[in-house]
Amino acid sequence: MPEQQILRVAVPAPLYHCFDYLPPADADIERLVPGVRLRVPFGRGERCAVLLEVVTTAEMDGRRLKRALAVLDATPLFTPSDLSLLNWAAGYYQHPIGEVVANALPVRLRKGEAPVSVLQKTWSLTPCGRLQDPSALRRAPKQAELLALLQASPGQRLTQEQLQQCGTYRQTLQVLQQKGWIESGEGMPEAAPRPSPSASPPLNTDQQHAVNAVELGQFGTYLLDGVTGSGKTEVYLALVERVLASGRQALVLVPEIGLTPQLIRRFERRLGMGLAILHSGLAEGERERAWHLARLGQASVVLGTRSALLTPMPRLGLIVVDEEHDLSFKQQDGFRYSARDLAVIRAQRSDCPAMLGSATPSLETLQNARSGRYQHLHLTRRAGDAQPARMDLLDIRSVRLEAGLSPLLIQMLRQTLDAGNQALLFINRRGYAPIMTCHACGWVAQCRRCDARLTLHAASRLLWCHHCGSQRRQDDKCPECGDTDLRTLGQGTERVEEVLANWFPDVGIARIDRDTTRRKGSLDQLLNGIRNGKYSLLLGTQMLAKGHHFPNVTLVGILDVDQGLFGADFRAAERMAQLIVQVAGRAGRAEKPGRVLIQTRHPDHPMMQRLVRQGYAAFASDMLEEREAAAFPPFSYQALLRAEAPQESAPREFLEQAYALAETLSTGQVELWGPVPAPMERRAGRFRAHLLLQADQRGELQRLLARWVSQLATLKSARRVRWSIDVDPQEMF
Ligand code: ADP
Ligand code: ZN
Ligand code: ZN
Repeated sequence: MPEQQILRVAVPAPLYHCFDYLPPADADIERLVPGVRLRVPFGRGERCAVLLEVVTTAEMDGRRLKRALAVLDATPLFTPSDLSLLNWAAGYYQHPIGEVVANALPVRLRKGEAPVSVLQKTWSLTPCGRLQDPSALRRAPKQAELLALLQASPGQRLTQEQLQQCGTYRQTLQVLQQKGWIESGEGMPEAAPRPSPSASPPLNTDQQHAVNAVELGQFGTYLLDGVTGSGKTEVYLALVERVLASGRQALVLVPEIGLTPQLIRRFERRLGMGLAILHSGLAEGERERAWHLARLGQASVVLGTRSALLTPMPRLGLIVVDEEHDLSFKQQDGFRYSARDLAVIRAQRSDCPAMLGSATPSLETLQNARSGRYQHLHLTRRAGDAQPARMDLLDIRSVRLEAGLSPLLIQMLRQTLDAGNQALLFINRRGYAPIMTCHACGWVAQCRRCDARLTLHAASRLLWCHHCGSQRRQDDKCPECGDTDLRTLGQGTERVEEVLANWFPDVGIARIDRDTTRRKGSLDQLLNGIRNGKYSLLLGTQMLAKGHHFPNVTLVGILDVDQGLFGADFRAAERMAQLIVQVAGRAGRAEKPGRVLIQTRHPDHPMMQRLVRQGYAAFASDMLEEREAAAFPPFSYQALLRAEAPQESAPREFLEQAYALAETLSTGQVELWGPVPAPMERRAGRFRAHLLLQADQRGELQRLLARWVSQLATLKSARRVRWSIDVDPQEMF
């Protein structure tokens, strides 16, 4: 009797194990390869699942197994090594394997739909076209270029998209088609030679050293530590070129907000064809097509945000994580993985280097560099010899502020603008004002569903909760006492913009925050206006702090960062310093050195002093000492169990039972702290609390989690809460 085949599959469900099925009745056994999708019966419905393994003995009695209904793919979507990485991640982050695998699939594929076609309109040479000499077309340079391009391509065929990326016009295609030299068809884009890549600037010695230090073809992690504008991106590009030349693929991850059209164009110009872009702003079909091209090895470079990390790439030869300190690399819900950390694991399993770049490396990464696990590479100068900006603290303790600005800062703004330069103001809060209050009775506008105040957005006349998103019309009289004397306290970007417009009526002001950039293309428009001088005064939130270069900005004002000095979260100071340095890095170039003014009520605070006088590296070194003394990460390892429920007592009860369970499983090497209410206890109508686990050894923590998390669902109190586990949490809320 032939051995029974049992399919072990990952079903998207909140359960920590795989499921076994029998093959579909009429299945072609050849197609049952790990990595294909299957439709399977599940509960009362059906699910789209992914085949992980074909085994011969079931985990439960084989006679009770159900049959899978259908095989959905002709060829596997994941290789065994992709699946093993996903399996590792599911184990490390304690997340159900089915959901992890689903996370790695484009949305349509998760739903069981057929893969989109990757075939594209292509153009190829006719026999007659092959015989033409491009140099004979001196009068028609565009046509000559197109001809040369096709003649130089393998198979003498390129997709329309590739041709357009190389600057070919539709009209040129038509003309050559009419001449009978080229014809259109349908096909896969081929990994084609670069048409006429723009030349790279000669690298400076630091950059050259960094590029040479990276050993391709074997695993190693490198920290590329260099201030903004020191030429990190050039180092990435040079490495990517070398990887492509060796026939392998490269994966480049950037923060959500760093994937600007300018960066995409820069990569396109330098690398030419074969670039797949992956981010959440793409239409589902487009995104999925890019995913397939990478998976099939047709795209040689993938440039994307966090989720691009999980793109299957058969010939992976390099992973770059730019701005590795950025929080957007950590997924904050569902499968809470860190794309940066997983990038290193993936590189290790692919025998290729991982490069983490930042002007303000996270303390975790710095510690890995210090201990020798990562190789620390420095870019010490700004490319082209631009001077670093000068930083100063501005004491605002006994100063009357106007809309949050001190008179000295206002005066400096005026001087900067009068001299024909640009100035930038950083305010960590959008909207008009964070507090709306009644002058008669002291009422304050509060969110009904959160322990939070409502922010006034004046343009839309809305009171808005930035925590749960709920909004309501602005009151015109006090809901408590009926008085109409309602006032605002504090300021957000909207208010500062209003005040600046009054003070500087003839100056173009660009406000950059989530409200002004919601419409597609609006951020790009604002950035263009800044570059071409339409705007001289820029103000905004974190969005301004990342990824952009404003060479004509000579003054940066930073309004309120003091909460970072005393924040409840032990990472608050690290984040504050990163933010300050990143904002400061937007300013200044060779001829125009920049100046940075930081308003503070704590000008003597040693942390502030250290950062401003000696820079981020010195600051980070102090912080690492503090962390070590307090046994905080990176000198220990944490996991956070969060719970929330509409009933106030439910999260606590669950967490207490979870605590008791952990104690029965623990060897005493893992400390348990809590349960405690979350810093914002009520949010979106739910009460929230958490329990923190900490251990000196990653292995100890992992061993406990592996036994504990799968049992949590069986606790009686678990049914009354929504709970989640966060391994290596970055935020405590
Ligand atoms: P980073 O990624 O560190 O912010 P970039 O790679 O974007 O730095 O470089 C900043 C600017 O300096 C860019 O305009 C880039 O073209 C230029 N640049 C980088 N390296 C060099 C170099 N070796 N020679 C000349 N210009 C360079
Ligand atoms: Zn009132
Ligand atoms: Zn709210």
